[in-house]
Order: sequence, then C-alpha cells, then structure tokens
Amino acid sequence: MQYFIDVILPVSLQKLFTYSITEAESAFLKEGMRVAVPFGKTKIYTGLVFKIHNQAPTAYEAKEIHQILDEVPIVNNIQLQLWQWISSYYMCTLGDVFRAALPSAFILESETIITKNTKKEIHEAVLKDDEFLIYEALHHQSSLKIHDISNILDKKNVLPVIKRLIEKEAIIVEEEVYEKYKPKLVRYVKLHANYTSNNQLQNLLEDLGRAHKQKEVVLSLFSLSAKTKKPVKVTDLTEASGASSAIIKALIDKGILQEYYIQTDRLQYEGDEDNEASKQLNTHQETALHNINTSFQTHKVTLLHGVTSSGKTEIYVKLIESVLKEGKQVLYLLPEIALTTQLVNRLQNYFGDQVAIFHSKYSNHERVEVWNNVLNASAKAKIVLGARSSIFLPFTNLGLILVDEEHEQSFKQFDPAPRYHARDTAIVLAALHKANTLLGSATPSLESYFNAKHNKYGFVELMHRYNNVLMPDIELVDIKDKHKRKRMKGHFSDRLIEEITEVLNEKKQVILFQNRRGYSPIVECNTCGHSPQCPNCDVSLTYHQYRSQLRCHYCGYAVIMPKTCMACGSPDIDSKGFGTEQIETEVKQLFPEANVARMDLDTTRGKFGYEKIITALEQQEIDILVGTQMLTKGLDFRNVNLVGIMNADNMLNFPDFRAHERSYQLMVQVAGRAGRTEKRGKVLIQTYNPYHNILQQVSTNSYVDMFNEQMNERYNFKYPPIFKQIKITLKHKDYNRVETASIWFAKSLRQLFNTNVLGPEAPPVARIRNQFHKNILVKIPKQQSLSKTKEAIIKINNSFSSIKDFRSVKVILNVDNF
Ligand code: ADP
Ligand code: ZN
Ligand code: ZN
Repeated sequence: MQYFIDVILPVSLQKLFTYSITEAESAFLKEGMRVAVPFGKTKIYTGLVFKIHNQAPTAYEAKEIHQILDEVPIVNNIQLQLWQWISSYYMCTLGDVFRAALPSAFILESETIITKNTKKEIHEAVLKDDEFLIYEALHHQSSLKIHDISNILDKKNVLPVIKRLIEKEAIIVEEEVYEKYKPKLVRYVKLHANYTSNNQLQNLLEDLGRAHKQKEVVLSLFSLSAKTKKPVKVTDLTEASGASSAIIKALIDKGILQEYYIQTDRLQYEGDEDNEASKQLNTHQETALHNINTSFQTHKVTLLHGVTSSGKTEIYVKLIESVLKEGKQVLYLLPEIALTTQLVNRLQNYFGDQVAIFHSKYSNHERVEVWNNVLNASAKAKIVLGARSSIFLPFTNLGLILVDEEHEQSFKQFDPAPRYHARDTAIVLAALHKANTLLGSATPSLESYFNAKHNKYGFVELMHRYNNVLMPDIELVDIKDKHKRKRMKGHFSDRLIEEITEVLNEKKQVILFQNRRGYSPIVECNTCGHSPQCPNCDVSLTYHQYRSQLRCHYCGYAVIMPKTCMACGSPDIDSKGFGTEQIETEVKQLFPEANVARMDLDTTRGKFGYEKIITALEQQEIDILVGTQMLTKGLDFRNVNLVGIMNADNMLNFPDFRAHERSYQLMVQVAGRAGRTEKRGKVLIQTYNPYHNILQQVSTNSYVDMFNEQMNERYNFKYPPIFKQIKITLKHKDYNRVETASIWFAKSLRQLFNTNVLGPEAPPVARIRNQFHKNILVKIPKQQSLSKTKEAIIKINNSFSSIKDFRSVKVILNVDNF
C-alpha cells in the first residue's frame, strides 16, 4: 500500500499538494503537524498536514517529504475546520489562511524589517532602478518587510537587491523585537490627611518651630498645590523648596508628608500580589448579567448594548469567572488599539497570570509561547486577551468569546488574503466549540443590531451609567453662523474657546477630536455648508483635482466641478480637509500656557508612542490632547471634562455608505470620554449643519433612531446588512490593461447578476505602488444563494485568468468589504 499526505503550503495555491510518505511516516504523522517539503525546482516550504490517505495524485508524481517538523500536532482539528470555513467564506486559499494563522516563526519565514539608513546620505545616481524603488518607498514608509519589497518589485527573490542596498549602506536590516512597556513611576507627595485643615496646618507649622528647612518644604508644598491644583511631584517640590531629598524623606518618615504613585499601567504582571476580588455589580449590571445568561440558553450569540461607562467590563469579568469554573478557556477580543495597558491591568488584577495577551506587536518568540500555552490548555492562558488574529490560536476547550467594541471596523482584516472579519469568524469559532459569544458595544454595528432585532442573536440592554454618572451634556455649535458673525478664530468657535478656558481654569483636561479620515478632499460650500451628493447613491462626491471633477466612488457618476454652489449659488466653495497638526498649532497659539499634545498615527509611530501619551495624560502632564479616532477606544480618563469635536461634517460627508453610522459611533464613543466621574462632562460638536439627523441623534443619545433611519437607507440603496457585498479589485501596472480587464470582468458578472453589479470604477487613489486599481461591486440579495454566487464568481475568475492578456492582472476578492 502507498501512503500520501495532502499538505497546505503557505502560498496562494487553489489546491493542496500531495506528497508521498513511507508506511512508518504514516504511522507517526497526524493532521496538524508540520513537514518540510520540496516545491518547484528548488524551493523548500513548511507545510501543514491536512489529510493522510492512500490516493496517488493523478496529475503529477508525488514527491517525498524532506522532514517531519513536529512530534505532536500544533494545529488542532477545530482550527482546520475554521480554516476551511474562512477559505470558503472569504474566497481565499487554505494557504492564505495558514500564512495568516500561524506565528511566522512556525513557517520559518523571516520577520525581517528594513529601514532607511539615516546616518548616510545616498546619491540616487548610485542606485540601480530596483534599488531606487525600494529606497524611494522608504521615504514614504518608515519600514518595509520582505514581502512588501516583493510586492513593490513584483518578484519573489528580492534578497539580491536587499544585499546590494546593504552594501551601499542605504538600508538597515533588523529583526522585529517588541519590548514590553514599563512606564517609569512618578513619585508624588501630599500632606498627610491629618494636616489638611487650616488649624491642623497652623499647629504643624508651630510644632516644626525651629526645623526651618522642613517648614519651608511644607509651605512650598502648600503653595504648589494651591497654585496648580494638581498632584505635586517630588521633583517639583525639591525644586520649589530647594530642600534635599533627605529632608523630604524625614518628613515622610514622620508621617507629615505622604508619598504616592499614580500607577498607570503595567503590562507585565508581577504575580506577587493576591488577585483582587471582582466587583459587586449594581442592580442594573446584575439584571444585565442575568439576562445574558438567560439569553445564552436560547441564543449562543448575544449582543450587549450598554452605554459608555455602564460597567460592561465588570460584567465580562463575572462571565469569565463562571467559565473558568467550568474549566474552559475564554477569548476576549478587542480592536488592536483598545488593547491598552489600562484594560490589561484591570484583568490581570482579577485573574493574575491566567491572562495571556496576544498582540501584533509581540515578538515572534512571545507569540509562539502564547500559542503553545493555549494549545496545551495551560493555566497561563485560560483567558486570552487579544486583537483580531487571536481567533487563530489553538483553543481546545473554549467556553466563551467576548467581542468588545464589536462595531469596530478594524476587526476586518484588509490585506493580504484571507481578509476575514474577526467578529464574524469568532462567532463561527465559538460555534465549533459549542461556546457562547457575547458581542458588546455602546454603539453596535447595524449588522449586529439588525441580527438581534431579527432574533438571530440574543439581545440585552444596559442603559444606566455606573454610579449614575450623567451622560455628557452635548452642545452643537453652528460654525456656519459663527463664521458669518466673525466668531471664529481659525477652526475654533468662541464657544469652544470659552469652554476650554473654563475647564483649564478648573485644572481639568480637554480632548479635541479631529477625524483622520478628513484628509480626503471633499467640496464644501463656505456659505451654506452644502457638499454635493451623488444622485444614484447615498454618498458625497469626491473632488478630483487633476480632472476638475466631482465623482462618486460607488457608481462611477461624475460631473465637472461646478463654479458655484449647487445649493445656494455662492461662488465661495472649496475643498475641505484639515488635520490634527493644524489644530495643534492653533490651540497652542490660543492657549500658550497649556501643555498641548497630539495623538495620531504620526506621533504614536515610535516605540510605546501611544502608551507614553496616555500615561502623560493620566499623570496630568497634558492639559489638551488633540487626536484622531485613536482617542475613542475604551479609555478611562478621570480628569477629562471637555471633549471638543472640531468638525463633524467631514466625517458625515465621507464618501462611504457607512459614513453616517460610523460618525454616530465615533462621536458617541469620543463623547463617552468626557466626565466619567461625578462631574458631568461637556461635549461641544462644531458643525456647519447642526440639524443633521445624525448630530441630533448623537446629542440625544438616540441609537434606535439612528438605527431605524440608517436601515431605511440601506434598504433603499441595497447595502448591507440588507444585501451582502463582494468587492472585486483588479490591479495592474498598465492602465489600459486593467481597464479592458475590468470591463470584461464586470460584463461577465452582469450576465448573471444584472443590475446588482456596480462598476468598474477607479478608487479615489487609483494608483498605489505603481499599480492601477479598478473596483467592481457585487450586491447579493438575501434570497440569492451566497455559496452559488461565490461559485459563479470563482468560475468567472478562472475563465478570466485563462485569457492570455489578463493573466498578469491581479484579482482581489473581498467578501463583506468595509
Ligand atoms: P464600560 O466598559 O461600559 O465603558 P467600565 O466597565 O469601564 O464601563 O466601567 C466604568 C467605570 O465604572 C470603571 O472605572 C469601573 O471600574 C467602574 N465600575 C463599573 N462597575 C463597577 C462596580 N460594580 N463596582 C465598582 N466600580 C465599577
Ligand atoms: Zn452653498
Ligand atoms: Zn454614486
């Protein structure tokens, strides 16, 4: 008898490859083990055993494997089932999933990072064409990985180019390492509670009598805290009083002063303290918890709609406790950016080192460690707190998946394949384990809320903030009117300036929000605020300067850029888009005394950039923080009392059918950062259009109104969740070729799906890395079989690739595109 294995290779091949093995090997090998196998003329790949059988392949002669790499499977059967689901649902190969699922150390691919050598000036003339392309790319991106370089050069073997660039000292090559962040602890002092009244202080000063130096310190501390109304650092006190640290220590020893730390975060759990007991839930939380458990009896997937700061996390903690009691594992999924040290800390306080963190910034080594702990159901990984790729971990016994901030679009992975949605995949994973899934959000996605309303998911609400903290007071500021009455300074209305001034006087902090996506040039009338809409779709048109056109990115509609406003006739129209940097500059001019910082992609790029800013805000070193949506994610700042949204319109006018839903979510989430303690927080939203329904819904916290209205639009315009969508992107470096190819593709699709095919059209950025892009959108009604539709698309794609002219055109299929 002959023995064979079907192997998944880490490349995009439609079919698995079959290799021959000996009888002894067949007795040893199991599905889910890795083998090193030859491929093509010279290559060797790490493959994963998918199936062991006795069927020789008919099309080719099976080669022998090189080596068996594992003693036991590193991937289990449930994972292989999940991979198959991903591959068929997201229309990609098992190889694509394999590559995304395993820490790259398991696939023996280098995680090498290439950066520019800033120490050496390179003359472009000395670089060959291919070297120049890489060098040029490093002007725009701080680092590249090997596969990026492959993409740029459009070839596999890029090591010679990299070698030449190293020899010319143009680049530096390093392995990715992720150091864990340990914030430095800042020491603060305050007067002991015994001396806080005036009388007591008076007595103390008398008692200190001749100890002049000590008296000096107490007085300095008193005046410092009176002046700044902020915690006083030991270093500030030594500076102000001129006293040595010995004197301060003496006062601390006497119990007159008290030292303390504002403990902010600690990624690494020290494990030396006892775990904290979880909190006693209030009645609203109790009811919600009870409802969730009841709901799980009939609905394995349940949505928890709980307003910001309602104490959802504490409910998750209770759920985790009971799953742990059953001896099962828990996956707690979060968007990458919400995976803050704040939350990690909170969970580690309760669960100690049973919590494992899985993060894209972790080194290969750490990821492999977590992988093995999960695989062995080790006590160290009972709870995995992780970003989207943690759905690939080898859970053996999952009891619960929590998807927090379930509305976050970053759960959808973009590039390269498999392009999965982590929330949706998590639901499938939980089903394979017969486990429960809880989706949580203050602003659920329309998809999830729709599923809950149609009884596909269970549904639980929690509408009270913890401790009855009031929802923030939201004020809409009409900047059209403010402009007219000359009440604007730059991008700041007089109202916003007043509120900032007041909050700064109270020594509270301010967050100013400027949406990053506002870079896209949208035309807006300075007089009436109108921005032109597409007649066929519910999106704003985008200004294309080079052709002086307004275009719709969804149906391809285009008009010449008008000279006057289509609504009011004013000639005062221009393209809008201002960023966080400009706001930062302006706010520094308006409030020269304040400490201003900025949080966006540019300022958080460096190591721990993000954590450093959060820490500085918590330690009240920052008075005003200007930032993008990075600010919206689950952060809990005690001292922030004002949130200013600089311009709501550029979010609302973003050319995307989800723009209104997302604007609502962003604004409610960012508003949730204000006043999370006793004092009611204030939110100012600046807009040209205060009567916009979304803004009214935000200011009255009317999620259900938003939902109903948006669903109406989705229904009218055949968008998700009413219709499913598959986006097909074609890429090629020759414009004419991609144009002809995309017309062919769309025509073939139309023969089957008629008007439910849109495009081809060029995306707003029509050329990326020297590749021209064309998009085609297929809309799929509920009653149309999804799997048959996908089969038909794959068939068309196969005939497409068999046309000689089109073979070099790259086709990307994106299911449920975001
Ligand atoms: P959410 O996740 O809904 O935004 P959190 O779980 O972060 O809300 O809770 C908001 C704040 O209230 C946190 O500081 C949390 O520690 C506190 N909190 C919530 N529930 C309780 C409770 N039962 N007992 C004590 N504090 C609580
Ligand atoms: Zn106008
Ligand atoms: Zn359109």
